[in-house]
Amino acid sequence: MIPFLSLKDLNNRFRAEIDARIKTILDKGWYLQGEENERFSKNFAAYCRAKGAVGVANGLDALNLIIRAYGFGPGDEIIVPANTFIATILAISENGCTPVLVEPDIETYCIDPEKIEAAITPKTKAVMVVHLYGQAVPMEKIWALQAKYGFKIIEDAAQAHGAIYQGRRTGNLGDAAGFSFYPGKNLGAMGDAGGVTTNDLDILEKVKAIGNYGSDRKYHHIYKGVNSRLDEIQAAVLDVKLAHLDADNARRREISKLYRERITNPRIILPKAYDEMAHVWHLFVIRCDDRDGLAAYLKERGIETNIHYPMPPHKQGAYAEWAERSYPITEKIHREVLSLPISPTMTDEEAQRVIDAVNMWNA
Ligand SMILES: *Cc1c(COP(=O)(O)O)cnc(C)c1O
Repeated sequence: MIPFLSLKDLNNRFRAEIDARIKTILDKGWYLQGEENERFSKNFAAYCRAKGAVGVANGLDALNLIIRAYGFGPGDEIIVPANTFIATILAISENGCTPVLVEPDIETYCIDPEKIEAAITPKTKAVMVVHLYGQAVPMEKIWALQAKYGFKIIEDAAQAHGAIYQGRRTGNLGDAAGFSFYPGKNLGAMGDAGGVTTNDLDILEKVKAIGNYGSDRKYHHIYKGVNSRLDEIQAAVLDVKLAHLDADNARRREISKLYRERITNPRIILPKAYDEMAHVWHLFVIRCDDRDGLAAYLKERGIETNIHYPMPPHKQGAYAEWAERSYPITEKIHREVLSLPISPTMTDEEAQRVIDAVNMWNA
């Protein structure tokens, strides 16, 4: 069997280091807001070359807290790709803002920079870019629009830890970025975890305070805050794994290269990287006009696949008010995509078995 992703294999590579770090925490008996958080946020900010970082409870909270820290709310519009994981959109609606959906570019699967300007109104407060599947959004055009219109750029970097655009990493391509450290992400904890990076130290302090009961110092509450913090054990696990992130991303690139060079089945549309360093291959997403047939065939041959995502946000029950809308590129993507297994622990032999099976389908 080739699993879609083995979290056990992923984390067991660092077992000794993780055990030692957790032991230190147990010996000390300090579980929240301590040295582990300080160390990890410092190291993660440095990794992203951002001025600061703070750990929060999960990726959705990271995005939610950024929007809240900027003070965006009812009447404000935030431009966002129509093809994203639901959390991106939920963070916008949770703050009472209006998500303005824009179609993706079918080549990169990221928001189409050419279609953003038409969606801008006097109410536009931010553009939330999503580095989907691990590929950094081409930012050039969006930066130019920002210079012209003055909105904020918020990155949903939940799938793209370490991706590089024009020499700059995600987490440092906009005004603030939300990361998820959900176990299956390129940098994953052992439970729910998230983080915010930003070059705006005022926003950093606000996110910290709002996520800690709105408190800027103990028992002083200046915002009606929430409890959204990263615990010490998760911070320690993430700090161990951060040191291996570039090596893991390099291995993902190698596997993606084998797939891209050797999958020759004419019915398959392969993903492209517009620049090798811009993509960290969180997911290897192919397209096929008979996606379900291909998935069933691979399953019979012991190859697990997934769909990211089977239903676009505007077709979800939670957004029934959008049911009549049509986003043809987004809908086509959701009909055709299939994610093949990709993981730093995958061997070349396993990748070859996937390649052979995909090439044999319908041949
Ligand atoms: C995983 C993910 C999130 C949410 O992160 P959680 O930690 O699961 O809350 C947000 N956006 C995208 C694009 C994601 O993939």
